[in-house]
Amino acid sequence: MKKVMKIAMILGVSALLVTPALAEKKVRWKLAMTWPSTLTPLASPPLKIAKIVEEMSGGNFTIKVHGKEKHKAALGILDMVKNKQYQMGHSSSYYYKGKSISTAILTTTPFGMTSTEQYSWYYYGGGEALTKKVYDQFKVDCYPGGNTGVQMGGWFKKEINSLDDLKGLKMRIPGMAGEVFAKLGVSVTNIPAGELYTSLDRGTIDALEWIGPGMDIKMGFHKVAPYYYTGWHEPASEMHFFVNQKAFKKLPAEYQAILKIAMRAVAADMMYENFAASTEAWAKMKTEYPNIKVKTFPKNVLKEMKKTTDDLMNAYAKEDALFNEVYTSRKNYMKKAREWTQISEFDYIKTSQMVE
Ligand code: CA
Repeated sequence: MKKVMKIAMILGVSALLVTPALAEKKVRWKLAMTWPSTLTPLASPPLKIAKIVEEMSGGNFTIKVHGKEKHKAALGILDMVKNKQYQMGHSSSYYYKGKSISTAILTTTPFGMTSTEQYSWYYYGGGEALTKKVYDQFKVDCYPGGNTGVQMGGWFKKEINSLDDLKGLKMRIPGMAGEVFAKLGVSVTNIPAGELYTSLDRGTIDALEWIGPGMDIKMGFHKVAPYYYTGWHEPASEMHFFVNQKAFKKLPAEYQAILKIAMRAVAADMMYENFAASTEAWAKMKTEYPNIKVKTFPKNVLKEMKKTTDDLMNAYAKEDALFNEVYTSRKNYMKKAREWTQISEFDYIKTSQMVE
């Protein structure tokens, strides 16, 4: 246990000054997640956290993970954790924007931060306290729970050459990006993962965005919609762990520390897992699926998407003080962080390409 406390302290995980006296206490928790149990890497963080917590507590603290197939309420995770049906949940914050608009921008925003910038904001740039403020309204704590990295802009049956090509298009695209597309004349719907391919194939929708090559290719979208657009809308979609505040307070201090360390470890791990899956899928795509046409939206379309995004954010900021606080913090942090991203990773890549 001493080791756990040390690691936790290094990561700035609090609640550690209590003496480690309750290590033998048996605690049995349940976690509900938005995803089916087989949908990795999205389902990976909760599945891995259950193993880590059990191992680090010597089998005394266990978490039973229920996938969507068990609880049948994919988008009801926050309520189930709030009501203590489950002590923990795994989902993504933006699914709950109907409860509080501030939850929407904790996941990602169109033209927003990259995953490195966003994690820096969360852990070292004031994001943790603001996230807590947003979720205190539900008596739930919310922690990073994995990141997809930059998502692709989606699969389209036809090429998009102008704003007119977007008008009347039926597309599955959630979150703020869905609201932006709706304002640009797209007929926006949200469809569960299991029905996406059929909807696209039958023409219920003309386009959809899902995640990135690692998860998209195995869904088969390219067979009916070969235009694969690069991303603008979900540059760093964060998954989230929800923890019932009362349940957390009841945990012995060592288990609190174990849980926090484990959440932080599996969140980062999902980002690597998804990056690796996309790396492999992208490499395979070129040779195995040559019909896929990779495109970037034309500049005039992107300009309108950006303007519509800014207008939408500013309108929400005017309406809601908490949204304004979170949005302003993120916007200011991104401005600062992007200069460093530009000169470090971005310029490094350009520099190394000069001698290829
Ligand atoms: Ca997506």
